[in-house]
Amino acid sequence: MNKANRDPYLLTPGPLTTSADTKAAMLHDWGSRDAAFIDINRRVLDRLVELANGQNTHVAVPLQGSGTFAVEAMVATFLPRDGKALILINGAYGHRIATICDYLGRAYSTYETDEDVPPDPEYVAACLADDPAITHVIVVHCETTSGILNPVADIAAVTAAAGRRLLIDSMSAFGALPMDAGEIPFDALAASANKCLEGVPGIGFVLCRKEVLIQSAGNAHSLSLDLIDQWTAMDKTGQWRFTPPTHVVVAFEQALREHEAEGGVAGRYARYRENCDILVSGMRARGFTPLLDDSLQAPIIVTFHMPDNPKFEFGAFYDRLQDKGYVIYPGKLTKVDSFRIGCIGRLGAMEMQGALKAIDQTLTEMGVQLGKVPA
Ligand SMILES: *Cc1c(COP(=O)(O)O)cnc(C)c1O
Repeated sequence: MNKANRDPYLLTPGPLTTSADTKAAMLHDWGSRDAAFIDINRRVLDRLVELANGQNTHVAVPLQGSGTFAVEAMVATFLPRDGKALILINGAYGHRIATICDYLGRAYSTYETDEDVPPDPEYVAACLADDPAITHVIVVHCETTSGILNPVADIAAVTAAAGRRLLIDSMSAFGALPMDAGEIPFDALAASANKCLEGVPGIGFVLCRKEVLIQSAGNAHSLSLDLIDQWTAMDKTGQWRFTPPTHVVVAFEQALREHEAEGGVAGRYARYRENCDILVSGMRARGFTPLLDDSLQAPIIVTFHMPDNPKFEFGAFYDRLQDKGYVIYPGKLTKVDSFRIGCIGRLGAMEMQGALKAIDQTLTEMGVQLGKVPA
């Protein structure tokens, strides 16, 4: 336990701080065939489809595991064995999709930009015009490596105009950034319970166009990652194919109820936006510099340059903040020395102000003077 004598606030890319009611929902045991559990599962999946406004076209297929399991299942199920992907990369999660294609033996090419540069939709259009073999474009919605918001709507438009299909890793965006399946044409989108939807970790899911899912039979190389098999069984019996993560599903239902009570995607966005604004302006006032221009920054996680000060040692900074009950995250950028502070999870203005105060105390303890500390 830390000095604050409570669970730490997780200012990280996940797992994240969850509400007391979401945690409490897990204090029961459910059988996989329990009718009440099957109802809860159904409601969760229906709600996920609703969040993307895909009621008439899309289905939600859940999968046991972390978010990467869902991304890998999406690629395995939707990218045909003789297809070819154009993977847009500006961070670690884009690279991970390329690694997944390596494992799956799927052909791909990449369009890589620097970690602080979004992909240019016109360049994507040119790549598609140049290479008729490309069948699918794969894009990361918010690249959590830096926190950059990629222009998914514009990428979707040029992909559809070129008659190609789109797969989206919306892991750290779905539930807080708008995604309307009627306006943004995509075949499949992967996300998870434990990021902007504030559930506990253990489930990923793929929202996908039902008719395309049905046409994708035979693509998957793996039984446990075959989304058609998972969906077909669940559609028929209401049950998961293999042991369901019952506690995670039940907690997810509670988290989705809280999401709805907060005003759905718009409400969640508003809180994260305020969290992000408090964090960025507070850190700027303390002499820290965000990596990204405000126009590129998604209100999910913020990357800061490592301060150029001999007394600032990140390990000590991290440990002292953790001691005070705030967990931040090291950077993952390839070129720039940096660290990250998240603004998602069950946290609000008070917790963000608390984090800034803990940072002030920590800097004082370390004898680091960066900028002007506001009164
Ligand atoms: C968190 C995340 C994932 C999945 O990571 P896991 O550690 O497997 O949950 C994938 N893509 C993005 C963009 C993410 O932020």
